[in-house]
Amino acid sequence: MKAKKTKGFKKNLSFYRINFSFQPPYQLVFDGNFIKQMLDHNVDLDKQLFKHTKAKIWKHTTICVLRELTSLQHLFPRVFKYAQGLSKINCKHIEGVSPAECLLDIVKPKPEFGGDNNYFWICTQDDELRSNLLQIDHVPVCYLFQNNLFEMAEPSRTCKMRIKSLKEIKYLPNEQEKQIIMPIKKEIKQQQAEKRMEKERKLAQELAIKIKKPAKGPNPLSVKKKLGKVTKSIKKRRHKIKNKKSRRSNKQGVNNEIIEQNS
Ligand SMILES: [Zn+2]
Repeated sequence: MKAKKTKGFKKNLSFYRINFSFQPPYQLVFDGNFIKQMLDHNVDLDKQLFKHTKAKIWKHTTICVLRELTSLQHLFPRVFKYAQGLSKINCKHIEGVSPAECLLDIVKPKPEFGGDNNYFWICTQDDELRSNLLQIDHVPVCYLFQNNLFEMAEPSRTCKMRIKSLKEIKYLPNEQEKQIIMPIKKEIKQQQAEKRMEKERKLAQELAIKIKKPAKGPNPLSVKKKLGKVTKSIKKRRHKIKNKKSRRSNKQGVNNEIIEQNS
């Protein structure tokens, strides 16, 4: 189970690397419940992440997450202390919003940052937040699987479909390219058709030879010869019989002469 999940992590990470240009050092953003889970189960996150990525990691939280943890520090002092030690992303939520709203907002490309992706991985144990984040294509969403195994969620189906269609559009030729490609395609098709016809012609010729041979097969002359042989042998036999008969008659003639002479 562990090996399978690790393979899933690598597969999902390479999807984001290839399609959304995620590069190390990776920027991880934690919410309160992720930190709590990690501390409760003594997860050695640095070790796991290095094993998965072989790359440098930067760990962050946001001002809004820290604000919430400050209000709960009497209940979760370890979580608060850990969050305090992380670098803080200035989410610019002056009034303060819930951690879920804050995290959903910081992953959206901002015009003030040139509209670029900010390449954050969001780490949360909140199922609802996780599914909302997965609706934004370019956000890797991470969590602790079975309490202690760091995992990256599989990109959503719609995200995969969008990437697939984008790739198809990217690799399809534009109008100008089509004008260059069309005559070449036509020529190739024609050449292929000619080759095919030539092949078929050769095959037909070969077949014609093959058909002719068996037609020649039963040689009428040889049949005649055989018949001749038969007639010859019949003739021979007849001749032999004739000879025998004549010899017998000759013998008889001689005998008759002797009898006549003796008498
Ligand atoms: Zn915020």
